[in-house]
Amino acid sequence: MNLTGEMLIGQQAVKGSRDPIQGINPATNERLDPSYPGGTQTEVDRACELAWNAFDSYRETSLEDRAKFLETVADEIEAIGDPLIERAVAESGLPQGRIQGERGRTCGQLRLFAKTVRAGEWLDVRIDPALPDRQPMPRVDLRQRHIALGPVVVFGASNFPLAFSVAGGDTASALAAGCPVIVKAHGAHPGTSELVGRAIQAAVKKCGLPEGVFSLMYGSGREVGTALVTDPRIKAAGFTGSRSGGLALWKAAQSRPEPIPFYAEMSSINPVFPLPAALKARGEEMGKAFVGSLNMGAGQFCTNPGLVIAIKGPELDAFVNAASEAVKGSAAQTMLTPGIFDAYENGVSTLAGSGKAKEVARGQKGEGPNQCQTGLFVATAQDFLGSDALQEEVFGSTSLVVECADAAELKQVAEHLEGQLTATLQMDDADLEAAKALLPILERKAGRVMVNGWPTGVEVCDAMVHGGPFPATSDSRTTSVGTAAIFRFLRPVCYQDLPDALRPEAIKQDNPLKLRRLVDGKREA
Ligand code: NAP
Repeated sequence: MNLTGEMLIGQQAVKGSRDPIQGINPATNERLDPSYPGGTQTEVDRACELAWNAFDSYRETSLEDRAKFLETVADEIEAIGDPLIERAVAESGLPQGRIQGERGRTCGQLRLFAKTVRAGEWLDVRIDPALPDRQPMPRVDLRQRHIALGPVVVFGASNFPLAFSVAGGDTASALAAGCPVIVKAHGAHPGTSELVGRAIQAAVKKCGLPEGVFSLMYGSGREVGTALVTDPRIKAAGFTGSRSGGLALWKAAQSRPEPIPFYAEMSSINPVFPLPAALKARGEEMGKAFVGSLNMGAGQFCTNPGLVIAIKGPELDAFVNAASEAVKGSAAQTMLTPGIFDAYENGVSTLAGSGKAKEVARGQKGEGPNQCQTGLFVATAQDFLGSDALQEEVFGSTSLVVECADAAELKQVAEHLEGQLTATLQMDDADLEAAKALLPILERKAGRVMVNGWPTGVEVCDAMVHGGPFPATSDSRTTSVGTAAIFRFLRPVCYQDLPDALRPEAIKQDNPLKLRRLVDGKREA
């Protein structure tokens, strides 16, 4: 497929007229053709109009038709074949194997959402039938189902050019809920975005859906992104990126005459707590495994382990020594964009210059452009508690070990943490009491609490929570990964005393969708 550098507004391909963005191969700094001129208010208006016009019919597509659409999107992405992999590798600097895996995850999550849509549990139907003879007051007939919120804007993430970009988790969950989607492409991978966007556009056509179900726009976040988020026809947005970008857009979404849900995933340093018995039994082994997790994807995972918190002593020293050796042996890796590389270098310099964190190891220097050197720093608990800068995300493969005097200080550090996507306990049986003391704190701080694993690697499934209190996300009640992500784009509606002929299928008396509904307090078989 030839790339054209055009936006996709419904079924049209439209050339923008604002400053162009161009993909850059971060491994070589080579500019990649074509260039992608940005959109203006005119295209924002058109995309929003089409999305709004598509909304009422798309949200009432049958469960089967919507599921087939999601599966068709997955088929169309796979049908692009090698050109998609080649372009995504060139634009991201990520290895081919990683991009192939990401394509599998992207298509897998579209198909998982298709299964979720078909099952219909997300409609969460509750029926309290009329009780005309109830004393002292009769009860009316009340029926609840969930409906889609409306057109959704998705900001493609830089660090997952497939799985969290144009057809990624936010898009899949919004489409599954019945919401048309307008994607604001990330400037780091415009060509990959066009390829995937055209696959979705083709699926819309093949499935006979209204064209406004999907549009793809290029341009600056300040102009196009803000215009999309503040358009009255947009009813929710999903974002993954920096805290500053997320907060700016969140504020724009909340300052509208009609504020809307803005689901931002922004920053997380994912603390790991190696507890005393585990440290004693396998400190060295853990140190090596920790660096393996730290180096994954050049540390550009939102679940990267950026913080280790433990009680100081020879056991922690053994962990730090083993980790330091592994860090020193770590090859430099190409980062996603020159901008992200610069931000990483600044973050490491700020940490080094803080006077509070001591550098204990650096990885190998790279020979090419934009290559990050892995880093390991150590700080005392008191310095960590006294310096908010030490809690800031350094996006890349650098981590900080916080040495605590005792269990009480460790708890104090845990209490001091900002909201996180994950918190990890490394523990043996003898650590059970210490773990029990920490668990209530970690539940308050994180969306996912794990034992004896490493935070990188997020399973896409029903039980996953990829979320957490601020600043990990802007709304801790939800997840952006896994099938529960669909609930971000739904809201409940209660129907009182509607005649059966007027009722939507999900709440009709004879249950034509064969849903397991909650009727008069009992779950239907
Ligand atoms: P970003 O700068 O936040 O950009 C993400 C998207 O938001 C882009 O489309 C961008 O548009 C838009 N945007 C940014 N600031 C905006 C503003 N003030 N108003 C309106 N739109 C705005 O994120 P990034 O480019 O992916 O990476 C930059 C940094 O974000 C990284 O160094 C890292 O610190 C962090 N990051 C964190 C995670 C995580 O999961 N925790 C993931 C990725 C990145 P433009 O194209 O115009 O910039």
